[in-house]
Amino acid sequence: MSGSLFVVGLGPGSPGALTPDATAALQAADALYGYGPYLARVAERPGQTRHPSDNREEGARAAAALRHAADGARVALLSGGDPGVFAMAAAVCEQIESGDDAWRSLDVTIVPGVTAMLAVAARVGAPLGHDFCAISLSDNLKPWDVVERRLDGAASGGFVIALYNPISSARPWQLGAAFERLRRHLPASTPTVFGRAVGRADEKVVVTSLGAADPASADMATLIIVGSTFTRVIERPGLTPLVYTPRSVASS
Ligand code: SAH
Repeated sequence: MSGSLFVVGLGPGSPGALTPDATAALQAADALYGYGPYLARVAERPGQTRHPSDNREEGARAAAALRHAADGARVALLSGGDPGVFAMAAAVCEQIESGDDAWRSLDVTIVPGVTAMLAVAARVGAPLGHDFCAISLSDNLKPWDVVERRLDGAASGGFVIALYNPISSARPWQLGAAFERLRRHLPASTPTVFGRAVGRADEKVVVTSLGAADPASADMATLIIVGSTFTRVIERPGLTPLVYTPRSVASS
């Protein structure tokens, strides 16, 4: 029997943001692998085994899922948001490239999901309406000076920037340093959005400015969008403001 591996994006958190393809892949699996809280989001099915692991064990988790699939099982490996964005799909590719030759013959399917920056953007309007990029502030897997160079390039290049992994107890100062870096390129009035746990019960979304952005307002479940010089805020009576980046830039 030849096994298969589905790397499944669960979206940001609400059941409605789970795609039908993701639901089908989860239901069809013999075994589910994933970070514990992600597994907890999936309804139990009799006969299906569950293999929770810690947040920081991506490589080992991907290898375990590949090994199980190579034994002939239909395995689903869970990822929050989209599996291709700072997540498990790349961890699986890393293991396939460096691991057991048999893993190259496995049937591997990546099932996309709604990534956090799209979920946060949708809450406030259209901040990603023109050119944008995504940067992870985690310096676990890359040195901090690389992060700084990318922040410089993105801000000076006119990109709206989505910041993933902004802060954690092991990385307490990086977000403040990132805001300082961005303030070298962008005015204090630049619209900035903090979106926390979007799609979950404890969701919180705040629109502020780069000048007023406080790193203490973010935690591990927060995604931050820093606008470009073109990003605008439309105040609305009795309603939350709309943040958007117009689709066109005049030639200079
Ligand atoms: N693969 C995931 C991202 C993993 S990195 C995705 O596509 O969304 C983890 C980071 O994603 C967190 O530190 C946070 O910045 C962001 N994130 C994940 N889920 C989120 C949510 N529901 N609301 C806001 N940010 C979220």
